[in-house]
Amino acid sequence: MQSGGVSPMPSIAATPRTSTPSPLNPNAAKDKKVKIAVYCGSSPGHDPAHMEMARRLARVMAKNNIALVYGGGTVGLMGEIAKTLVSLSGPDSVHGIIPEALVRYERDPTYTSTHVTHSKDEVPLAIPEEQIFGKTTVVKDMHTRKQMMAQEVLAGAPGSGFIALSGGYGTIEELFETATWNQLGIHNKGIVVLNVNGFYDGILNWIKESADSGFIKGGNGSILVEAKGAEEAVQALREYKVSPSVLKLAWGNE
Ligand code: AMP
Repeated sequence: MQSGGVSPMPSIAATPRTSTPSPLNPNAAKDKKVKIAVYCGSSPGHDPAHMEMARRLARVMAKNNIALVYGGGTVGLMGEIAKTLVSLSGPDSVHGIIPEALVRYERDPTYTSTHVTHSKDEVPLAIPEEQIFGKTTVVKDMHTRKQMMAQEVLAGAPGSGFIALSGGYGTIEELFETATWNQLGIHNKGIVVLNVNGFYDGILNWIKESADSGFIKGGNGSILVEAKGAEEAVQALREYKVSPSVLKLAWGNE
């Protein structure tokens, strides 16, 4: 968390427009892609099912022409989903956003040097990282990263939203911050927890407990939606209904 505990909020008003309908391009709104931000671990986890789910989600996204925005790492689940989607849909389908300070920890430096191909005359050619992991934007801090990731999703076509794969503190922090933004009415996109082999059971039980105990109000217990498979997760974003209990505050105008 940022010192002071408050992150800059992704102002909906400030959301960049990627396609504006105009007389010259009346179909621009239709051209908008569905964008999913995936929060996930920078580690692979011990159970191979976690890495497998990252690959499955990438395959479902490729099949549905969905773009990925993610934390920009090339290691762990992060690297796996980015690499798989780029291999299926090309580098334009993935945008990683990473704070400068994390580059040395979350981007594997061996990629540009060891992942080489050979031209016909046997001169080794490094494959640019972009061809493996997609476009990367390096930003000054964690909060710029989170804000940019959210803004991309908010500017995406219907069905855009957030999915959490398995992960550690960073993943949970991002997941819950996105949930609280939803609860405050800052955004209305869906948030799905992809629960691999019960990995998120503890969190989902806590949400139920908190709602039953009167700490999570009304329908807000359903701000996070559980999915057990990749198809189900993407479908849940398409069908997501905002909880009637969220606050409807005018953020971005203050
Ligand atoms: P982890 O789940 O701990 O492997 O982290 C996954 C990603 O979440 C990493 O890219 C972290 O940089 C990122 N992250 C976002 N917010 C935080 C935070 N407040 N503390 C730690 N990591 C964070």
